[in-house]
Amino acid sequence: MIEHMAELPENPTDNTMNLVDSGCRELGIGLSDKQLAQFALYFHELVEWNQKFNLTSIIECGDVQVKHFLDSVASLPIIAEELNVHLPFSQSYHMVDVGTGAGFPGIPLKIIEPSLKLTLMDGTGKKIRFLSQLITKLGLPKAELVQGRAEELGRQMGYRGQFDLVVARAVAPLNTLVEYLLPLTRRNGFTVIYKGANSPEEFMESRNAISVLGGEMVRFAPVHVPYLDQKRFILLIKKVDRTPDQYPRGQGLARKSPL
Ligand code: SAH
Repeated sequence: MIEHMAELPENPTDNTMNLVDSGCRELGIGLSDKQLAQFALYFHELVEWNQKFNLTSIIECGDVQVKHFLDSVASLPIIAEELNVHLPFSQSYHMVDVGTGAGFPGIPLKIIEPSLKLTLMDGTGKKIRFLSQLITKLGLPKAELVQGRAEELGRQMGYRGQFDLVVARAVAPLNTLVEYLLPLTRRNGFTVIYKGANSPEEFMESRNAISVLGGEMVRFAPVHVPYLDQKRFILLIKKVDRTPDQYPRGQGLARKSPL
């Protein structure tokens, strides 16, 4: 509820988040006033923290709405279709956003689907500090933070094979990224990778890695992000088998020598 949010922007103009509002509607997602206020506050915090810490190069209000907020949520209808569920979700999935940076795509997904249990993972302390105050200000329940590298956490019991949904955007080339993500995904869960225009080629190079790690590609779809005139893709991988114990490999091997 709005009254539970710690702080709202000084002068929230009603139409600040007009692109998020109409873009979500185009995606079949209706937003409440509370959700619009959460997006407005998120924008406000992002701009404020960005003056001190370099969190993102995208900072103009329209750009943030399209390239961060709508880009993060445009895949949600496709994910729901694959899970065979409607929005809003009727069960609470545990989702981890790996290499979340300033919270993308995890936080916009969580604003839209508050039932998600969200873990935000990043290797960088300053990102985690920003996110920590952000989730408090947005009043997001069931959201936790972990600072660490995915390839290390993916070997630990509390994280390995624990998540129904593992998402990532703009973290690493696909054949490296799958070695970070698949070990975290529980059996029959889904790994969801956000990708840009060069994806079809990257995908061809990653087929071996996906199958070695216990995954099966179930969907590779173009995504239309409202108001964005660039290609986006989503890759959905189902975890059909357990990941062999030797993965993820340490010492930067996922990066230096992809499967
Ligand atoms: N997902 C965000 C941020 C992308 S920048 C977005 O789309 O805007 C990539 C982020 O991933 C950085 O914050 C970096 O610290 C983090 N990162 C890169 N490799 C990582 C790894 N192996 N484990 C955890 N975080 C990682």
